[in-house]
Amino acid sequence: MCAARGKGWTPMRHVVVIGAGIAGLTAGYEHRRRHPRDRVTVLESADRLGGKLHAIAFAGHTFDVGAEMVLAVVPDALTLIEDVGLSAEIVHPSTTSASIVVDGRHHRIPTGTVLGVPASVDDLAGTAMFSPAALDRLRVEPNSPGPLLTQDESVGGFLRPRLGDEVVDLLIEPLLGGVYAGRADALSVKATMPTLAEALMREPSVLRAAASVRREPGAGPVFATLRGGLARLAQALVDRSGVAVRLGTTARGIRQTGSGFLIDCGPEVLGTVIEADAVVIAVPPPNAARLLGPLAPDAAVTLAEIPMASMAILSLAWPGPQDVLSEGSGLLVPPSAGGLVKAVTISSNKWAHLSEPGILVRASVGRMGEERVLQRSNDDLLTDVGQEVAELLHLDGVPSAGLVTRWGGGLPQYTVGHLDRVATVRAAVAEVPGLAVAGAAYDGVGVPACIRSAYAAVDALAG
Ligand SMILES: Cc1cc2nc3c(=O)[nH]c(=O)nc-3n(C[C@H](O)[C@H](O)[C@H](O)COP(=O)(O)OP(=O)(O)OC[C@H]3O[C@@H](n4cnc5c(N)ncnc54)[C@H](O)[C@@H]3O)c2cc1C
Repeated sequence: MCAARGKGWTPMRHVVVIGAGIAGLTAGYEHRRRHPRDRVTVLESADRLGGKLHAIAFAGHTFDVGAEMVLAVVPDALTLIEDVGLSAEIVHPSTTSASIVVDGRHHRIPTGTVLGVPASVDDLAGTAMFSPAALDRLRVEPNSPGPLLTQDESVGGFLRPRLGDEVVDLLIEPLLGGVYAGRADALSVKATMPTLAEALMREPSVLRAAASVRREPGAGPVFATLRGGLARLAQALVDRSGVAVRLGTTARGIRQTGSGFLIDCGPEVLGTVIEADAVVIAVPPPNAARLLGPLAPDAAVTLAEIPMASMAILSLAWPGPQDVLSEGSGLLVPPSAGGLVKAVTISSNKWAHLSEPGILVRASVGRMGEERVLQRSNDDLLTDVGQEVAELLHLDGVPSAGLVTRWGGGLPQYTVGHLDRVATVRAAVAEVPGLAVAGAAYDGVGVPACIRSAYAAVDALAG
């Protein structure tokens, strides 16, 4: 599928991207930026763009019910947002002060830690969350450190003997749960805390390693979003890149031909076949495993091993005025609390553009292995979670509006050995010229990491 040869001839290829989440749309955008003559088609099984970038009309606002913000301390997402012309819409949180609920009491989350790993006992001494024995244990850690980190271990497995169970269960577990919906005793220290893990390979003391990599407080905003919803980024990527998007089109299989690929779409009978010179697979691991089966069996088998956590986001509104300002941006609830809710974001406190007219909350339910809590109707979830959030925030009355968004298999789990699995997948895919993968399974689950994985996929196609 090449343009006719002639003076100034450059090959024109048809690149097909499967999946219109942030990874797929960024891959399409970036490929067109580098190769404006190439045609790019994005296939998406849903009837909307964005994947986990999804905003709905709720309580008078456009409200993100998937990803709601990006890390601003790494450049990837903000640079892309600026490139697609949305810089004027970037906003930062009005407050990032949040609390952890322990035994019914709300304790401010200590600042200055690395995903909950303290750099000094002083980081934790200001909170009443930990027992004197737990703090004493931290005090002696730098003088009696454990062995260096060599092979991959679980976060809990590596840190419990060094920092004690209280620090892992009450601080690290809820913070990791907020990002991965996973458990400290299963998640890989090398994959979920890569910078700290690298330091721990040279520095045996966990506190000293954390001190060497932690971000200096007050060095600018950590997070950002877009007025009108982070999900706006998806449409902007399409508008700016001129990629063609085919919604409601599921890629069912990919066949390799002598010169490229044939992609079977839709039902087996009356489906369509799309020709492509190159393909980027930017779908969640189980879906990618199915597509890769005949092309790169090792990649398919490895992707199928990645566990996926399911969760639900409940959008809840209460009429104002009610005073929840002292709660800051919200609460994290450790699994030991035994409730349904894992995290509560008070969006009307956190984002100035969502502050009126009432109280607007995003409640998150469901961790890896807790599928049971999601096995109830939307009405039951709204009632039970609405009540739990009202109690946690001391809100009067029942929510005036509520909506459940379910994310079945929403987050890949970076369990022990994840980095090796990713290397296996990438090596197997690289054996097939013109094929690349991108998405939340590879370089991190956050939006900036998915963007980076898309750039890597475009690099791989060029290679
Ligand atoms: C509830 C929730 C909240 C989150 N909050 C944040 C946050 O605040 N900040 C942050 O940085 N990250 C957050 N994340 C993580 C981040 O949003 C995701 O990891 C990221 O958006 C995933 O992007 P992706 O492109 O890899 O996959 P997806 O967004 O899952 O996109 C993949 C797309 O592929 C489509 N698809 C699947 N199979 C096929 C097929 N066979 N043919 C065609 N199309 C197919 C799907 O319909 C989907 O649209 C959150 C995740 C969840 C679930």
